[in-house]
Amino acid sequence: MKRYLFICLLALVGLSSCKGFETVPADEFEARIADGKAQLVDVRTREEYYAGYIPGAINIDGRLTIFMDLVKASLDPALPVALYCRSGKRSAEAAKQLAKAGYQVCDLEGGVLAWSAAGKGLIDIEKNEVDIFTTPSGKEVYFHALAHASFYIVYDELNIYVDPVTRSGGKEFNYLMFPRANYVLLTHEHGDHFDRKALSVMTNAQLVTNARCAEMTGYGTVMANGDELQLRDDIKVEAVPAYNCTEGRTQFHPKGRDNGFILTLDGLRIYIAGDTEDVPEMADIKDIDVAFLPCNQPYTMTPDQLVNAANIIKPKTVFPYHYSSTDVSVLPGLLPGTDVRIRQYQ
Ligand code: ZN
Ligand code: ZN
Repeated sequence: MKRYLFICLLALVGLSSCKGFETVPADEFEARIADGKAQLVDVRTREEYYAGYIPGAINIDGRLTIFMDLVKASLDPALPVALYCRSGKRSAEAAKQLAKAGYQVCDLEGGVLAWSAAGKGLIDIEKNEVDIFTTPSGKEVYFHALAHASFYIVYDELNIYVDPVTRSGGKEFNYLMFPRANYVLLTHEHGDHFDRKALSVMTNAQLVTNARCAEMTGYGTVMANGDELQLRDDIKVEAVPAYNCTEGRTQFHPKGRDNGFILTLDGLRIYIAGDTEDVPEMADIKDIDVAFLPCNQPYTMTPDQLVNAANIIKPKTVFPYHYSSTDVSVLPGLLPGTDVRIRQYQ
């Protein structure tokens, strides 16, 4: 009998170490991922993810053949990982692979079906203000509005943050809960663009900025107005002038100090203006698909200046951003023929 019990015990131990990860119900899973304690990964398809995901989750499709390569590129092996899918089947498969690779993994029992049944919320594409564009070769680019001048872009499994700040307009962002940054673009040093706390969780990302911010952080790839930088074959950054040109305002953003950026992702051209007025150099900015244009005087542009800037650059889509209390609801009417999208950029 003793021997039988011993064998049973061995079998049980063998079973749990074989599995190598824990499967936990929704309440426990929620506790495990609270306050960014675990790296949360949704292993469903991109379409399923954007139809509603658990707040803070990044998306790595478990069925991709490069799944583990993406895991290794995106996740810190020193921190726990929490996985989920629709019903728990795909995430159990994925959890097995991660456990084998040495990650400490917990898996959501019953997936988002169980999560929703337990009355827990999901972020959906409408609420989270995600905009999707397509590159000329058909790759999707996702724009996630955060606040004021902060947003992030997801392209080809890469996460690109622009001027990420921790607090803005009553919102607070814990970037540990966000997709891990691969690149960070910083336009200039002002507190509504440059935030050490946000940057402190993005130290593995390549920082692209101006001389002043690189001096303040002690690292980063420095670009001056007019510089070009090829981050990858399909990712290019151009630094363009961003400054105040109206008398009495030039002290806010002196000419030559700060950057606007043109980010080209697989042919999709994105203009991130930074803090600027409608300066004459905008005439050289061409073939823009998506433009982020600031709209709060006296630091940046009035609505009339923004309209002028848009008429010079002729982007297909304009996101007014950095607009504080300016009434930007007038802009779509002032730019007929341009796709003007108002998002949460107060
Ligand atoms: Zn500024
Ligand atoms: Zn600003």
